[in-house]
Amino acid sequence: MQFGLTQEQEMFRQMAADVAKTAIAPKAAEVDQTGEFPWHVVDAYRQQDIYSLTVPEEYGGAGVDLLTFCIVVEEIAKVDATAAIILAVQELGLLPILLGGSEEQKRKYLPGFGSGELIAAFGLTEPEAGSDVSSLKMKAVRKGDKYVLNGTKVFITNGGIADVYSIFAVTDSEAKHRGISAFIVEKDTPGFSIGKIEDKMGIRGSQTAELIFENCEVPVENLIGQEGDGFKLAMMTLDRTRPGVAAQAVGIAQGAFDYAVQYVQDRKQFGKPLAAFQGLQFMLADMATQIESARQLLYKAASLIEAEGKDGKISPYINRYAAMAKLHAAETAMKVTTDAVQILGGYGYIKDHPVERMMRDAKITQIYEGTSQIQKIVIARSYLD
Ligand SMILES: Cc1cc2nc3c(=O)[nH]c(=O)nc-3n(C[C@H](O)[C@H](O)[C@H](O)COP(=O)(O)OP(=O)(O)OC[C@H]3O[C@@H](n4cnc5c(N)ncnc54)[C@H](O)[C@@H]3O)c2cc1C
Repeated sequence: MQFGLTQEQEMFRQMAADVAKTAIAPKAAEVDQTGEFPWHVVDAYRQQDIYSLTVPEEYGGAGVDLLTFCIVVEEIAKVDATAAIILAVQELGLLPILLGGSEEQKRKYLPGFGSGELIAAFGLTEPEAGSDVSSLKMKAVRKGDKYVLNGTKVFITNGGIADVYSIFAVTDSEAKHRGISAFIVEKDTPGFSIGKIEDKMGIRGSQTAELIFENCEVPVENLIGQEGDGFKLAMMTLDRTRPGVAAQAVGIAQGAFDYAVQYVQDRKQFGKPLAAFQGLQFMLADMATQIESARQLLYKAASLIEAEGKDGKISPYINRYAAMAKLHAAETAMKVTTDAVQILGGYGYIKDHPVERMMRDAKITQIYEGTSQIQKIVIARSYLD
């Protein structure tokens, strides 16, 4: 049992571990090899009500706290980072509606997200606007009771899989980040299509796609909040979802560590198990310490965000701790998985063992939802402002 967790949180951990072991782990290597979207994972989440975790009870969900959600993501990422991001992105896509949507929008979409009948996605990044979100180019122009969307989004997780997209576009190009607005776009909206599907280094079963908007008309009721709320909504969403990516990173690192611990006890060289060599023991000690420190920072961040962020307010602490948790966990995942490959030697480099997949999967945690450099900027600013 982890220090400080409730019995209920431990129960969710066990439930997630069971799903991970029975429904996800057996096909993780195959999904990585084929790069095909794992619908069996979606089915498992639907059957076990896992999509409902973060949807509030009044909209048919389980309404668990952020830490419990992170524990579930962590447990799944131990066996498969693709499956973990499929869960975390549901939260990323639905949060703009939960945080800024009207009661009508919440009633229309949240129950479907909770049951898994609707799959969500979050479309912020553009070809010319990655880290620099305020330089978005995609336009949304109001015409009567519609907004007309024109532009392109890139690297969108669940692109082509999702039913409902939270999309960010410029409604006032003079107002910089205050001119960005958020919209709900349903998959069959005329003028909306899927472009290039990316062939990736890791999380290969997660579909990452370009979204194309050509005179795509969305009803004014699909504006989330007011015109100009988009940037704030995107940032508030990321503050609450970065812990999910941190949880994915901690899980990947733990999965690789557990595999390495087993391996050093089975493999013999120089007439002894690898575990007998102090050089490797020191590596394992460093890995374990890094993982545990990343986990504790994540759990602190998740608890703090849960306590401070109930009413959707912006807090410098939320900002800081979400960024710290993601930064530290992502760097830990990269280091630990690289060391796990090293500990397995040549066997670490081949696909018969999962650590090479875990090392490739770990890399994305340093990049999406804000790169490690961007997290450092957020952390530093939280002290300087
Ligand atoms: C697999 C995958 C899934 C993704 N899923 C989504 C999604 O679902 N929705 C979505 O909207 N986006 C998504 N993204 C986009 C992702 O969030 C961006 O790729 C990321 O924010 C970085 O933007 P960029 O790729 O344009 O890099 P750039 O912004 O061009 O950065 C390039 C390099 O410069 C560094 N850099 C940039 N600015 C600074 C600075 N001021 N100081 C120091 N260094 C800096 C960066 O850290 C990076 O190392 C996804 C990306 C990938 C690869």
